[in-house]
Amino acid sequence: AVAIGPLVGVHRRQYPHAELGILEQAFAVAEEHHRGQRRKSGEPFITHPLAVATILADLGMDTTTLAAALLHDTVEDTRYTIAQTQDAFGLEVAHLVDGVTKLDRVRFGADAEAETIRKMIVAGGRDLRVLVIKLADRLHNMRTLRYQPPHKQERIARATRDVLVPLADRLGIHVLKRELEGLCFAVLEPDEEAATLRLHAERARHRAALTAEMARWLIPDLREAQISATVTERPRHPYSAYRTTRERGGGSDELLDAARVLVLINRDDPSPGDCYAALGLVHGRWRPVP
Ligand code: MN
Repeated sequence: AVAIGPLVGVHRRQYPHAELGILEQAFAVAEEHHRGQRRKSGEPFITHPLAVATILADLGMDTTTLAAALLHDTVEDTRYTIAQTQDAFGLEVAHLVDGVTKLDRVRFGADAEAETIRKMIVAGGRDLRVLVIKLADRLHNMRTLRYQPPHKQERIARATRDVLVPLADRLGIHVLKRELEGLCFAVLEPDEEAATLRLHAERARHRAALTAEMARWLIPDLREAQISATVTERPRHPYSAYRTTRERGGGSDELLDAARVLVLINRDDPSPGDCYAALGLVHGRWRPVP
C-alpha cells in the first residue's frame, strides 16, 4: 500500500516539531479523490503527489508547501474544489493549489526567458512556492517520462529544457536544475548523452588521480595555515561538460578531465575568514581563471 510514513520521516529530519496533522489530512483527501486513477506506469495516481511532496521535503520546504503538493492535482483532475481546499486546509494551502492549477493552464510561447519567468511568477500569484511545487511536479514527471509515447516525451522534455530549467536556475535550486537538465539531455540528445556518460565513466580513474595530486599539494598548505578541512573530488556533471564544450567548440574529454575538488572547512564555528583563506591557498597554488 502507498503510505505517508517515508515523507513524514524526511520532513521530520529538518522540522522536528512540524505539525503533521495537516499532512496526514492532505494525504487522506488526495488518496480518496484520486482513488481509481492510475499513472501511465500503472501505479495508483497518489504515488505522484506523494513523490512530488517528498522531493520538496528533501529540499527542506515547509509543511504548508508539502500539504499543497499532496493536493496539487486534486482540483485539476478530481471533483475536489478550491473552496473545499480552503475550508479544510486554510487560505494558504488553497492559494498554493490554485496557483499550481493556474500555472498548468498558462501556455508559454516563444517569449524571451525573462518574460516567460515573469509570466510564471504572475500566474503563480507571486508566491514563489507555487513555482517550486511546479518544478518538483515536473521533475517527477520527467523521472517517469519513459511511460509516455515518444512524441510526448520529446515535447515535454523540450518545454522542460526551455522553460523549467531556466526557472530552476533563476531560483537557485541547482539540485533540481541539474537533474532536470540531465533527464532532458537523455530524451533530446540520446546519442550525445550516451557518448558523454561513456567518456565520463572511462575517465573516472584519470580524474581521481588528478584530484589526488591536487589534494597532495593542498592538504599540507591547509594544515600549515591551521585550517581544518576535507578535500574531496567534485566531478563535473556530464551534461554541463557537454554543453560547455559545445559552446567553446573543444573536445569534451578536456572538461571531463578537469580536476575539480571540494574543500570543506571543518569547524564547529565556521568563519568566513577560513573559507577565504582556503581559497587564497588554492589561488596561490594554481592561477585562477578570471
Ligand atoms: Mn502533477
